[in-house]
Amino acid sequence: MAVIENPALKQFVAHIGSELVLAQVFIRQNNSGYELRHVEDRSAIPDSLRLLNVNEVRTLVQYTATGIFRPLKSAPNLPGGWRLLLSGDVELETALNLFYPGAIADWYAVQGGNPPVTHYREFTNRQSGMYRITTMLNDAQAAQVIKAGCDKKFCLKRRLWTVAGLESDGAGEKSLIPCLEPCAVLMEFARKAVRIEQQEKVCLEISPDEVATLQVALANMLMQPDAEIREGDISAPGNPRRLQLVLEKLRPFLKLARDPEKE
Ligand code: SF4
Repeated sequence: MAVIENPALKQFVAHIGSELVLAQVFIRQNNSGYELRHVEDRSAIPDSLRLLNVNEVRTLVQYTATGIFRPLKSAPNLPGGWRLLLSGDVELETALNLFYPGAIADWYAVQGGNPPVTHYREFTNRQSGMYRITTMLNDAQAAQVIKAGCDKKFCLKRRLWTVAGLESDGAGEKSLIPCLEPCAVLMEFARKAVRIEQQEKVCLEISPDEVATLQVALANMLMQPDAEIREGDISAPGNPRRLQLVLEKLRPFLKLARDPEKE
């Protein structure tokens, strides 16, 4: 049977060289093909890692190390402690598509210089049904939502799409995997942000130093997220993306806070 050449795979393989990190997967060429590991296990003794076969990757990527479902495969919470031996390029493609669906094709599209990027306005204007309201965020609000929702704490894809007033992610900030349009998790987050904006606001007078205290409290919560709250549960007030959004909203006021070091 004739083998159909995949130009995206061919170019990606050429890019690997002897080794490459793709988000949280470390790829190393060996005599018989490739070895893949979690990037944090790159120096681990092989026998200390569980040897997987490709079919087991599908299950591995579903859950974090603590057993929480991973709705976004590009979230930086891929469990480690495994290695994978692959016999060649086709197996490599199969495995990488399980770790990061579509990553090779999207990476290849970017190498061509004209990737099919769909920006926030274009994408949300096409939505119908429950996501139609995501058009209601103004540019500044959408920028806050995008900065919070796509923060590297939550996603390793390099965001190429944007909204007026917001830069796309720079090369090298996150990973080689580009993001060409808003994902379902971001859309759900934007939908919730619209509902939050529509609520009647409460007025709370706090001083700049109290803003700084809130900032520290939120940052601490983000470092130790509540394990009970699922990443995809945007309705939970303690959802990490919602904490990050409040941080984004506080950011302009932080400049007013006194620097304790200078007092
Ligand atoms: S939209 Fe944001 S969170 Fe979703 S995949 Fe792209 S960069 Fe990641």
